[in-house]
Amino acid sequence: MARVLVVEDEPAIAELVALHLRHAGFDVCLAADAESARAEIDRMLPDLVLLDWMLPGESGLALARRWRTDERTRSLPLIMLTARAQEADKVAALDIGADDYLTKPFSPKELLARMRAVLRRRAPEALDGAVEVAGLRLDPATRRVTRRVGDVELEARVGPTEFRLLHFLLVHPERVHSRAQLLDRVWGDHVFIEERTVDVHVKRLREALAPLHCAGLVETVRGVGYRLARPPGSGAA
Ligand code: CA
Repeated sequence: MARVLVVEDEPAIAELVALHLRHAGFDVCLAADAESARAEIDRMLPDLVLLDWMLPGESGLALARRWRTDERTRSLPLIMLTARAQEADKVAALDIGADDYLTKPFSPKELLARMRAVLRRRAPEALDGAVEVAGLRLDPATRRVTRRVGDVELEARVGPTEFRLLHFLLVHPERVHSRAQLLDRVWGDHVFIEERTVDVHVKRLREALAPLHCAGLVETVRGVGYRLARPPGSGAA
């Protein structure tokens, strides 16, 4: 389930947006100003931020600019919401690195469509579609992890944390992830969990994948972190 942080100071709009997002299956948290938005982000990196431009105190634009210069939040998927419809404003929003821009009033349908488009591009693991890498298939809808070998479909018994970890690795294959990055993206809390927690869950994931002959799929990259290699015998698929 994708986590969305909604930063909006008008309670009626915030509640309405939250209602529609929750109805569409998103996990929503709300912040009414830049300060509480920063506190939320420190606590947990969301999959997407909806950010109102005009906030009391620090503006949404200034907040977005700050996020874009910080290593941890640099690539945070971000959609600006605003009553300002001048072309110069749209350009300013896109210039600081917002992924999209919506002018109030907007329809909830359009908001959801744009959110899904941004997530597909930037954080596909947050969406509910099944992922398959060379025969190893993870389906969030049925919560099954399977691999077809010849005529036989093998299924792994994977715990909830290992499931999220595998999901993240499958949608970002062959890329190396540090333990801190994995904590941020899979556990959603980089502050209170020790990095060796990642090692424990990687070990469990490997054990869970062993019956599918995929225990070696999650590779240790010494001194850096982990990455998903190609499943054995997958050829150049
Ligand atoms: Ca506002």
